[in-house]
Amino acid sequence: MDKNESIKCRVSNCTHWDSQYCTASNIEVDVDGGGTNAPNAEGTNCHTFEPRS
Ligand code: SF4
Repeated sequence: MDKNESIKCRVSNCTHWDSQYCTASNIEVDVDGGGTNAPNAEGTNCHTFEPRS
């Protein structure tokens, strides 16, 4: 899959990561600890993450 230059990501050990960008066709971002209200950007996380093997 080509990288999506609209989705910048710094998680270099994700299988979907390529040179600062995400290659997944879609991603799911959730709130750390559950719920639907994040206090700030650091309180969010990507659930499409898959570690590189
Ligand atoms: S799936 Fe999530 S963690 Fe992985 S490269 Fe894409 S945005 Fe980053």
